Amino acid sequence: MKIVTVDKLKKMIRNNEDISEIDIVTTATCGIMSGTMAVFHIPFNDKFRKAEKIYLDGYKGFVGPCPNEYLGKVDAVFFRNGFLFKRLVKGEELEAKVLADNKYYNNIITINDLQKAEMIGTRMCFKNYSAITNLSDKPVKTIFHRLPLKRGEASFSGCGEFNPLENMVIKNEKDLIGKRALLNGADALILGFGTRASLEKPNLMISADMKEMDSYYLGGFLTGDGEEVFNTVAIAVDVKQHIEALKKLDKDIALPLVNIFGREIIDISNYGEVWENVDLRPKLHKDRCKNCKNCLAEEYCPTMAIKKINGEIKISKDCFGCGICSICPHGVFEIKLGSICGIPITCRQSDRKRALDLAKELKKRLEKSFIF
Ligand code: SF4
Ligand code: SF4
Repeated sequence: MKIVTVDKLKKMIRNNEDISEIDIVTTATCGIMSGTMAVFHIPFNDKFRKAEKIYLDGYKGFVGPCPNEYLGKVDAVFFRNGFLFKRLVKGEELEAKVLADNKYYNNIITINDLQKAEMIGTRMCFKNYSAITNLSDKPVKTIFHRLPLKRGEASFSGCGEFNPLENMVIKNEKDLIGKRALLNGADALILGFGTRASLEKPNLMISADMKEMDSYYLGGFLTGDGEEVFNTVAIAVDVKQHIEALKKLDKDIALPLVNIFGREIIDISNYGEVWENVDLRPKLHKDRCKNCKNCLAEEYCPTMAIKKINGEIKISKDCFGCGICSICPHGVFEIKLGSICGIPITCRQSDRKRALDLAKELKKRLEKSFIF
């Protein structure tokens, strides 16, 4: 059984090499996936009749659906809380707080105390994205950018030729139901299409145990509309079954540029324009740092990857390669993000580095035991 990662396959196609010996390609994507929720079963030390409100380290969840009357346990759903999910998966202690019978009860928990911690993505791996710009003269707050999006700037999402759904020929939702995947490093199950999916514009509903996840692959991402969740998904694709889709390269995958107001299409470009000859991570020029009182890069980094410790700037592995740190007025961070239809990209909301890391991880696991 010959297995290759998606980047290797695309390189072979670009070089006109023979791919007929390959059986499986591991594809992957990483980006903001707004429809990410987590279902927790949270224990408390006291018995109460029924929870009315629930919080984890100040984040508000939604009680239910099960009532758990007089059990001192709460089923709850949380969503849009990427930083919370990452901390939980890391194994950090969190304060659980519940309002029941007009009284608050507290408990300190870690993920190991939760009998169930399941992530369900209601809209993952979205195949058809658009790049966004602003044709007005007024900067606008948006989920598509960390900073107010100005005229002459653009942002985009999507891992292009690496995305699992770009590499599959999907004729029926049933072909996907029950298929295995990796979600943030955990063995995951595809439940079918996600919300707003169609055969032309598919996305996936995927579920996995958060206790098995690797915190590197998920996290929070701050946008102009608050906190979001980013995830990484990898899926093995059978070459014979999906050969036509697998042959597609970035340049063959359309990326329309739309105006934020009304979303009318201004022009149609492709993923080659935004992913070729760009940097996946910023270069750090520490020598240029002026040690400003307020570090703009630290303040606006969407994943909180930048820390100024004793006057020294550091980037952690939480970096997503979004490019916002170019805001530093002294050029400490250098990253080439490219442009679309002549408009410079100033915020990237997908991360090909993490996607490739998970595609490699999936290849390793498949080679150890073929379970997909
Ligand atoms: S804004 Fe730039 S120069 Fe100022 S402290 Fe931050 S990294 Fe250093
Ligand atoms: S590219 Fe810069 S701003 Fe973006 S996540 Fe990395 S360090 Fe933060």
